[in-house]
Amino acid sequence: MKEVYLDNAATMTKIARAVQAESDFYKQINANPLRGLYKKSVQAETEVDEVRKLLLKLVKADNSYTVIFSRGTTEAINLVANGLPKGSDGFGIISKTAKIVVDIESHHSNILPWKQRYKDVTLAKNLDAKELFAADVVSLTGVSNVTGENFTKRIKKVRKMCPRAILGVDAAQMLGHTAINLKELGADFVAFSGHKFGAPMGIGGLIIKKELAEKLRPLNFGGEMVDAVSIEGNPTYSEIPYRLEAGTLSVGAIFGLKEALKIKSDANVEKLRKQATVELKKLKDVKVLASNGLILTFQIKEVHPHDVAQILADEGVSVRAGWLCAEPFLRFKEWGPVVRASFSTFNTSEDVKRFVSAVSSVRKKMKYV
Ligand code: PMP
Repeated sequence: MKEVYLDNAATMTKIARAVQAESDFYKQINANPLRGLYKKSVQAETEVDEVRKLLLKLVKADNSYTVIFSRGTTEAINLVANGLPKGSDGFGIISKTAKIVVDIESHHSNILPWKQRYKDVTLAKNLDAKELFAADVVSLTGVSNVTGENFTKRIKKVRKMCPRAILGVDAAQMLGHTAINLKELGADFVAFSGHKFGAPMGIGGLIIKKELAEKLRPLNFGGEMVDAVSIEGNPTYSEIPYRLEAGTLSVGAIFGLKEALKIKSDANVEKLRKQATVELKKLKDVKVLASNGLILTFQIKEVHPHDVAQILADEGVSVRAGWLCAEPFLRFKEWGPVVRASFSTFNTSEDVKRFVSAVSSVRKKMKYV
């Protein structure tokens, strides 16, 4: 039975050219971008810097921004959250008592890095002036991984309401799917994951104001982020972005990322998601909770989402079920656990048919009808 893969919001089906580029890198180059030692190393480094430029171009960032590579969105937000507190090491710009605001729609990756570092973290249910007025950092969801809703307008509004706060965007579900204009958004940092838009896993990063990056404490210390290390005394660190990228980067994945960035893929996705939504709405006992972008979230009366996912899996249909790493939001909405189908450019109308048919069989299989 051919799998119908509908968990693209967790990780998108990989773009063949991106996987090929990653593999080619290891077959043909396989050198560490060590800044100017030998030809292949230079080639690796040139490409890595080229991908930084492509990313900056993609989000219309001017030269006040830079790109710092990380394993993905989670690591990128952790880098900022851990890098901001002022310390005796000279890094950091805010105190541990700083006021942090994140939106209630946040994925756990935009909640926990802040909560484990700061005492005053608000999960804002509606971003009104009161909550934002005194904020030192506001870190917001770009596109929700639960509802697929795009919050571009809200982010711009927040920027106006708190011009002095550090404004961040969790763009895990946004970059590579919808347009981002950093000039208009006014964010100080944007975190993203390549695997969410067809690139290999293990690569993502921050698109961040240089001025802010300069002040961040590195998340990792070690090779390739330092210029001189003495036997005694303090090291002198490399400039950004290198200072914030200790250790060997996932260079093959960066080569793959370059290919994924070339693909404009989502036109078909909206069509399929809408088609599936129309069909699910026809089914008695199915409640569509949200349908936007590539995401369709629903529940089936009296059936736990995990049972729904299991029955769908038995039919070869892979979906996500549970709290979707956004438990505060699902509790706030009083939805509880949900089922999420998420589409990609590689899905077909036939996939939608098999998905709908599997959903329509669930209550029968649970012996409710
Ligand atoms: N934020 C959102 C909105 C997400 O959907 C995800 C992935 N589920 C993340 C952050 C974390 O991304 P990653 O696991 O690639 O670090």
